[in-house]
Amino acid sequence: TDRVAFDAVKHAENTLSMLAHEARAAKVDLLLEQPRGPVRLHGEPGRLTQIVTNLVINAIHACPPGATVTVRFDTQDDGSAVMQVQDTGTGIPDDVLPRIFEPMFTTKPVGQGTGLGLSIIHDIISGHFGGDIQVRTSSTGTCFTVTFPGRTADR
Ligand code: ADP
Ligand code: MG
Repeated sequence: TDRVAFDAVKHAENTLSMLAHEARAAKVDLLLEQPRGPVRLHGEPGRLTQIVTNLVINAIHACPPGATVTVRFDTQDDGSAVMQVQDTGTGIPDDVLPRIFEPMFTTKPVGQGTGLGLSIIHDIISGHFGGDIQVRTSSTGTCFTVTFPGRTADR
């Protein structure tokens, strides 16, 4: 494993550029809200790629044409970093919400979803970065909040 210190925002910017065609095809606006300075993470950059890709693709899939997916980074006073992936899509129904992090749970048609995305990134966020992921949803959209604790270099 190659843990390095890297700027999460710059890294996410690259990842989002690889997802731009996906967003364009769905007629969804994909935005990155940058904080003033860099957001330093310690770990394997490819793990952040997985997290961003899974959350953004899920968000695009939940969006009608004209909707927006916003990726936002910030740092907190305690040294932790926060990333939010917010969409103005359909939202997650009450009966679905408790199950979204279960392996192989999907509401997508056979062949279109493995149901592994959120389960895998949940494990990466906690196991690799020592962080956590939370979700808030309503009929006007969904926001996933990933918190990366400070001092992840020590893990
Ligand atoms: P998959 O994308 O293969 O279905 P995931 O683990 O990535 O598997 O997601 C599980 C389920 O969570 C999805 O099938 C969908 O029902 C729900 N979901 C995830 N993200 C969103 C979102 N942004 N908006 C609405 N539903 C979502
Ligand atoms: Mg998925």
